[in-house]
Amino acid sequence: MADAHAAGQTILVVGGGISGITTAVEAAETGYNVLLVEKDPHLGGRVAQHNKYFPKLCSPVCGLEINFQRIKNNPRIRYLTLSEVVEIQGSEGDYTVRIRKNPRYVTEACTGCGECAIVCTAEVADPYNFGMNKVKAIRNNHAMAFPSWYYMDPEFAKTEDAKTVAKSCPVGAIQPDMTEEIIEEKVAAVVWATGWTPYDAEKILPYGFGQYPNVTTNMRFERLASVYGPTGGKITRPSDGREAKNVAFIQCAGSRDHNYLPFCSRVCCLASMKQAAYVRDQYPDAKVTIFYIDLRAMDRYESFLQKTQEDPGITWIKSKPARIEEDGDGNPVVIGENTLTGERYALPFDLVVLATGMEPNSAKEAKVPFSEARQDEYGFVTGGVLAAGCAAAPTDVASSVQSATAMAMKAIHAAVKRG
Ligand code: SF4
Ligand code: SF4
Repeated sequence: MADAHAAGQTILVVGGGISGITTAVEAAETGYNVLLVEKDPHLGGRVAQHNKYFPKLCSPVCGLEINFQRIKNNPRIRYLTLSEVVEIQGSEGDYTVRIRKNPRYVTEACTGCGECAIVCTAEVADPYNFGMNKVKAIRNNHAMAFPSWYYMDPEFAKTEDAKTVAKSCPVGAIQPDMTEEIIEEKVAAVVWATGWTPYDAEKILPYGFGQYPNVTTNMRFERLASVYGPTGGKITRPSDGREAKNVAFIQCAGSRDHNYLPFCSRVCCLASMKQAAYVRDQYPDAKVTIFYIDLRAMDRYESFLQKTQEDPGITWIKSKPARIEEDGDGNPVVIGENTLTGERYALPFDLVVLATGMEPNSAKEAKVPFSEARQDEYGFVTGGVLAAGCAAAPTDVASSVQSATAMAMKAIHAAVKRG
């Protein structure tokens, strides 16, 4: 049981993905107060965007729903969405933090009835599905969104139409004139769990992402395979909606390359094997080709690699393709040389998936705003505050959960010292 005085201390967790949620519930269930800060309108982070995830290849609904219940049922956890930590001062055991809470334009009185979305005619690109479809300017991101309060797109909130939509709410929860707030808090420990962003594939010019519609990325492919995605889970070509039955995966796209991301993201080999299974399960006559330099299947995932290698519908080509062109039928053509046989190839596909790596959000918009914080050359957090999951290193979901649990223990230790 936690020491009563120390348990009065608050632990700040920044980032509401699987790592931040894990740290929050582990610390709170030990008796500590937790303030969980998330920049998006809902908790869940990248895991919520996956169709299935390792180790059990289950839907994210499984792991997230349980954790959302743990948060709902624990009065020691306060959470702020649409919020960012903008300043940290002090030292372990005695930090003062400033948090910017951006407007949701919908209050916590929202019941999630959906009436406003019916009335609203304005649409925006769906950020949850990487802009592959449109959604209403006032909405919930997805079926399991937590918290379930709707939110309004900030640009739409400035329009006259937003006022009309506000009148449709039966409980008066819509406030288009809501403004940002700055909140100051005293906390004993800070855990940075701000996660990752897929590497920007448009920077890999020879692969033509953004130029050729049938060249996509692994995270977009997750949405394409999801029943909550833009095609309702049907794996099709973005250009013409045709079934994608001849699919290529290009490993290390923009990774392990000093022109782009110099490090290995550890998860994208397995992600492509999992996604190859999505294609083969959906279309038993489909062909998949995986272009790879090395195959990395850490720890207990070796058996998954073996199972994938036994599938006769999957061809493996050891090669880093030189470039992608498009033929007259809109097929991306992958061009390169097989490093095992020395043969040159130019192979057309229905769809090419770039296995892009992870960039820590702490390298960009989620830099730690603290003079004592240390980050390595890639932006991963190495000291000054505690770091969990992909804020510390590229890692999969199971390892992120382990890392986040360890950080909960370290944060409690800081609170005990303070207490
Ligand atoms: Fe319903 Fe109002 Fe919430 Fe919209 S904002 S879902 S109308 S309660
Ligand atoms: Fe390349 Fe595989 Fe490492 Fe990803 S996990 S960077 S695809 S070797």
